[in-house]
Amino acid sequence: AKTMGKNNCQFYSPELNQAVHDQLLLEASLSRAIRDDDMVVGYQPKVDLRSGKIVGAEALVRWRHPDKGIIPPDRFIPVAEATGLIVPLGELVLSKVCATLKEMRSDGAPDFVISVNLSARQLRQRQFVTRLGQMLAQHQVEPGSLELEVTESQLMDQPEEAVDVLEQLKGLGVRLSIDDFGTGYSSLSYLRKFPVDFIKIDRSFLSDVSIEGNGVITRAIIGLGHSLRMKVVAEGVETREQIAFLRDYDCDQMQGYYFSPPVPRDSLRQMVSKDTRL
Ligand code: C2E
Ligand code: CA
Ligand code: CA
Ligand code: CA
Repeated sequence: AKTMGKNNCQFYSPELNQAVHDQLLLEASLSRAIRDDDMVVGYQPKVDLRSGKIVGAEALVRWRHPDKGIIPPDRFIPVAEATGLIVPLGELVLSKVCATLKEMRSDGAPDFVISVNLSARQLRQRQFVTRLGQMLAQHQVEPGSLELEVTESQLMDQPEEAVDVLEQLKGLGVRLSIDDFGTGYSSLSYLRKFPVDFIKIDRSFLSDVSIEGNGVITRAIIGLGHSLRMKVVAEGVETREQIAFLRDYDCDQMQGYYFSPPVPRDSLRQMVSKDTRL
């Protein structure tokens, strides 16, 4: 090892080596899991704050690991993003959601909207818009029943490019939303240029609306969204107090553990067909 050039072994440490090793293992097994379809999608209902009805759901992916059980997305999405596996993973999630949308329509819920989280890396794929259009046609899914969520910080990473691809997606007829709003430092001029239908207030602002600063921000985001003709969705709603606050300030939709955690597809279909209300 001593004969190696001075740039080679400088940062060697057993810990780093272990971390790299773990990362590679994770990448290999995630890749296998995508191929073998060990991924499941949970659906968290979204409730209209005025009618109290379920009007849509957010698709949230989980990894059903043969030995380790259910692995939450925070543990593998970052690796999927870093390695590019997010592209085939995202496509798998989209096709599962298309199948669910088709089922919901035959259940008699034609206006139901399901949203899918997209990574900027998927948006930058050259053929993304074309392929999405093909997938919707193949599954005979009405484009307006699919919503795509992209985080504010990912949009602001390359905002000009984002405006461009969002316009193309709008042309397909899908709905668009800005996720985790309030944490990504949007300049207001871009916010106006993004052709989006919804903004989702980041959970952190809602976690305690009784703290004065948080309440003020939540109210400001609702007002901003409405003045740009967007609907505003609150996520991470856990208490009655939060719901009362959101109603008072005219927020449009909410999702959170108060109403329901993400559930399997069949449970969602049951909740919707029973017309479960808040
Ligand atoms: P996100 O898009 O901000 O999703 C909301 C997260 O908050 C979900 O965590 C959801 O289960 C959780 N949550 C919902 N209601 C409550 C509540 O009342 N209280 C609290 N404390 N949490 C609540 P989850 O499912 O672990 O997903 C984490 C993140 O992983 C998501 O954050 C999203 O960024 C990412 N993700 C999930 N599925 C996908 C996917 O298919 N593709 C991509 N690119 N990212 C995904
Ligand atoms: Ca989301
Ligand atoms: Ca979010
Ligand atoms: Ca988030």
